[in-house]
Amino acid sequence: VNTYLERIQATTNLNAFVEVFGDEAIEYARIIDKKIKDGKAGKLAGMVIGIKDNICYKDHQVTASSKILQGFTSIYSSTVVERLLAEDAIIIGRLNCDEFAMGGSNETSVYGPVLNAADHTKISGGSSGGSAVAVQADLCLAALGTDTGGSVRQPASFCGVIGLKPTYGRVSRHGIIAYASSFDQVGPITKSIEDAALLLEVMAGKDDYDSTASSVPVANYSGNLEFKGKARIAYLSEALNSEGLDPEIKASMQQNIDKLRAEGHVVEEAHFPYLDYVVPTYYILTTAEASSNLARYDGVHYGYRSDKAVDLETTYKKSRSEGFGLEVKRRIMLGTFVLSAGYYDAYYAKAQKVRRLIQDNLNQILSQYDFILLPNAPTTAWTLGEKIKDPVVMYLEDIFTVQASLAGLPAISVPVAEHSNGLPIGMQLIGKKFDEGNLLSFSKTLL
Ligand code: GLN
Repeated sequence: VNTYLERIQATTNLNAFVEVFGDEAIEYARIIDKKIKDGKAGKLAGMVIGIKDNICYKDHQVTASSKILQGFTSIYSSTVVERLLAEDAIIIGRLNCDEFAMGGSNETSVYGPVLNAADHTKISGGSSGGSAVAVQADLCLAALGTDTGGSVRQPASFCGVIGLKPTYGRVSRHGIIAYASSFDQVGPITKSIEDAALLLEVMAGKDDYDSTASSVPVANYSGNLEFKGKARIAYLSEALNSEGLDPEIKASMQQNIDKLRAEGHVVEEAHFPYLDYVVPTYYILTTAEASSNLARYDGVHYGYRSDKAVDLETTYKKSRSEGFGLEVKRRIMLGTFVLSAGYYDAYYAKAQKVRRLIQDNLNQILSQYDFILLPNAPTTAWTLGEKIKDPVVMYLEDIFTVQASLAGLPAISVPVAEHSNGLPIGMQLIGKKFDEGNLLSFSKTLL
């Protein structure tokens, strides 16, 4: 813990942490040290973990990197935090992210952007940018992020670490600040597959507090990390041939395909004709859900209330106008629009239908293959400030991550190469529903 605290102190310029639980983590470490000596320690004893600032931890502040939640303290812990603590993990602090996890560059945070430790002029990726950089720069052993449309996988890929988004429903969302409830999943960001497996195993499973948390039994992921036999893998030609894909990333995917074939795995082309529709479908559905989820920030129940509020209406209007940032407001407006009478059928209902087509297509591919291979993002981490002014440019960066999210499928990003610009390239594998075990063990063979 002391080593991590020193490193955190020395790298405050990265802006990964928004709060460090220093004394508490040291105190905790002492208790766990004793438990280890007494032979009573849990599975995660000694693991020092950072949590994204949208994961509730009792009696600790949580803000989703938003002004509207400044000063808000959790009155209960999320199920994931409860389960980590029950296995003696040490939580060292909360990590910067995009406001309400809306973004792909960690530039919408009220605390400012997180810098990529590989190149301080570059973004960390997002929305779990603080989580990815904290692991990249060894500021904690592992971190939790949340992934709605790529927020664990994409920053992990931009920072050269591992990021796993579990199957929708694998991990409880209780105590996670909601962005888009039919998409959100907590996932580990780590340097090793072993750590990702261990964390998933501890966090996953049914939960009385979240009816969407699945009762499918949790496998012993960490004890079965040896992938046996040969895999059948599909790559999506539409993704690999897409226009905006950086040629070096494309070449790196191709090299991996060749390597896998040489190792005896079957790697074949598959078709996904909906690639152009994934980003619009994702943004219609997630903004709709967000507009509903964020209605609760009314200046009364939680966090920030405007000084200028004089009655109920101004309490709502002024608190929300002052408390939410630009990107969050944009999404609330878009989501409210697509749900409004007269537009609902044309946008929201249509997007639900397209979501089903995407799900069916991917599940059909996965009925014949174990995994789908694709890049994580069309580019490596870009320069700070480069894309933040144009939301459409920013949204299009999500083209390879949102399909697994729309389909509720598990997906992982593993670092596979370094670009000539010095930045990491990650490769993404999508697995069958609840097949995190094979996804993890196969990913281990890639490292
Ligand atoms: N970049 C995507 C978005 O802005 C993904 C965010 C996420 O997964 N939380 O919605």
